[in-house]
Amino acid sequence: MSDTLFSKIIRREIPADIVFENAHVVGFRDLNPQAPVHVLFVPREPVPTLNDLRHDQAELAGQLLLAAAHYAREQGFAEAGYRTVINTNADAGQSVFHIHLHLLAGRTLSWPPG
Ligand code: AMP
Repeated sequence: MSDTLFSKIIRREIPADIVFENAHVVGFRDLNPQAPVHVLFVPREPVPTLNDLRHDQAELAGQLLLAAAHYAREQGFAEAGYRTVINTNADAGQSVFHIHLHLLAGRTLSWPPG
């Protein structure tokens, strides 16, 4: 499996503003934030896209969601609200092929997204 920018961040080979970490997931601030809070939650296991996620990796998806919800509660915006997004492939604008969950918060988010 190919190495990605996000694997390098997880291994601390390139800098990032890491705000969450557990045995399964690392969370760091997006370099180009689209909201006052924009954190990327990335599994330590490098699955390229949601299309590649296998049934025996179902826990990985759960860990991403639980990490985001934990962070939202801890930071105090869980009740106000937030959005979680996984972009998959070209039409969704995926640019890093190491699956990641965007957490956006801190402003009213319009729907539908662009
Ligand atoms: P996506 O377009 O869903 O693949 O999201 C990739 C995200 O990674 C984008 O929102 C980028 O701004 C963000 N990004 C790219 N490089 C870095 C980096 N070195 N540190 C933090 N975020 C990054």
